[in-house]
Amino acid sequence: MKGSLHLYNSLTRRKEEFKPINEGFIGLYVCGPTVYSDVHLGNCRTFMSFDMIYRFLLKFGYNVRYVRNITDVGHLLDDGEDRISKGARKDKLEPMEVVQKYTNGFHDMMDIFNTLRPSIEPRATQHIIEQIEMVQDILDNGYAYVENGSVYFDTTKFAEETGKYGKLSGRVIEDLLAESRDNLKNQSEKKHPSDFAIWMKAAPEHLMKWNSPWSEGFPGWHLECSAMSTKYLGKTFDIHGGGNDLKFPHHENEIAQNEGACGCSPCNYWLHTNMLLMNGKKMSKSDGNTISPEELFSGDSPHVSKGYSPMVIRFFMLMAHYRSTVDISDEALQAAEKGYKKLMEAGRSLKQLEAHSAEAGKIDEQINSISQSAFDDMCDDFNTPKALSRMFELVNIINSLKGGQLDSKELSSRGLETLKQTYSSFIYDIFGLKNDLVDNDQSKYLDGLMNLVIDIRQSSREKKDWDTSDKIRDVLKELKIQLKDGQSGTDWTIDG
Ligand code: AMP
Ligand code: ZN
Repeated sequence: MKGSLHLYNSLTRRKEEFKPINEGFIGLYVCGPTVYSDVHLGNCRTFMSFDMIYRFLLKFGYNVRYVRNITDVGHLLDDGEDRISKGARKDKLEPMEVVQKYTNGFHDMMDIFNTLRPSIEPRATQHIIEQIEMVQDILDNGYAYVENGSVYFDTTKFAEETGKYGKLSGRVIEDLLAESRDNLKNQSEKKHPSDFAIWMKAAPEHLMKWNSPWSEGFPGWHLECSAMSTKYLGKTFDIHGGGNDLKFPHHENEIAQNEGACGCSPCNYWLHTNMLLMNGKKMSKSDGNTISPEELFSGDSPHVSKGYSPMVIRFFMLMAHYRSTVDISDEALQAAEKGYKKLMEAGRSLKQLEAHSAEAGKIDEQINSISQSAFDDMCDDFNTPKALSRMFELVNIINSLKGGQLDSKELSSRGLETLKQTYSSFIYDIFGLKNDLVDNDQSKYLDGLMNLVIDIRQSSREKKDWDTSDKIRDVLKELKIQLKDGQSGTDWTIDG
């Protein structure tokens, strides 16, 4: 399929045609999790959004190097304690045990949500040397100063000389108070409140620290992404992403660091996903306004009336554009569950459809046009809600062919092939959904067994063997399996 890709660039605040630095290749960097506690559903939304974006870029034909880091040092709490160290102290673990525990949990959750693994997943603690080198480069270029063993980025000097501080977040340096997540105890060491630490001298009780030319200490949180993206994708790469709560200070400071060290912008396009809300407020661990994925799967939460499967949740996320907020609610999830089931059931019906026209018919035309439109929607800044609505147009075609409202004489075998390809390409490859109503392997056996049951029921009816046909009906009812007799035979569905 042909088309040109347009992305909304948060830096320029408009949609732009995407042009890769190297034809056919894309360097994509996404800020990963800070692994000090279990991921919440808000984090999952951001990673699922970038998974959809990554999947579409692959489908578009690009060779993508997808780098998503693990933050395992430097991300401080407001009281100045490192998040990982705090977790370690609390659970009486080694900091690296905390990191491993929550990295494993994060990976498990990403697998459950069927997200593809990145090409490289670098950890901040494995790149201390690269970070120290970057601090040195920034110092050498005059954009940082050393104070009592810590190194601070000089935002005022950088802003005055380059005019590039605050461009991404739209903040004006004069208005900036110390919003950066630095060690607040050290505010007095800074020349200006908006300056931020790129290297911090560690207090004696600090658990994670390394030698450097300035002190025994640890890197500032923002530095890891500048150092690791440069190492694996180059000084300027194509796309940098993250949740829009990272625009300031994290991404603004990343830009300053890259410019300060290399004299160039880290990337050409900034993509920011919007927040998952609950009760109209950002889902966030620190505010206690969260629901864990596990609570949502089991239904063990006052926020939901029942459990929802991981794929229903993924479908729910796709129903909104990645730049819009989404408010999670029981009603919205119920609606998503209905839509998801309809989509999966149509996928099953599609396998049984036949085409009876030698040449392209009227239905072929419809399928081709819907397929192209869905691709165009995705090329338009990854418009999943629109592309999903096209899939429901295909569902209508599938169901009408099955029910006889549409005549399979209007459909060629090529058209049927396009229908199958479009369906699987969008639903499974791009949206990353899979049928978790029944496990895919099991579904093959289940289909076979259900066909057998339907055949036995049919022949027992013909023989007026009501005992057998009634028994089949009763057992299926108990299992919540509904039979539907239609023009082209009997079909079955599982009731929610
Ligand atoms: P953290 O582990 O706090 O660094 O966050 C990991 C990712 O989750 C970042 O890209 C955040 O922007 C993103 N994130 C945090 N809260 C939410 C939320 N409520 N909705 C969507 N993304 C979020
Ligand atoms: Zn980052």
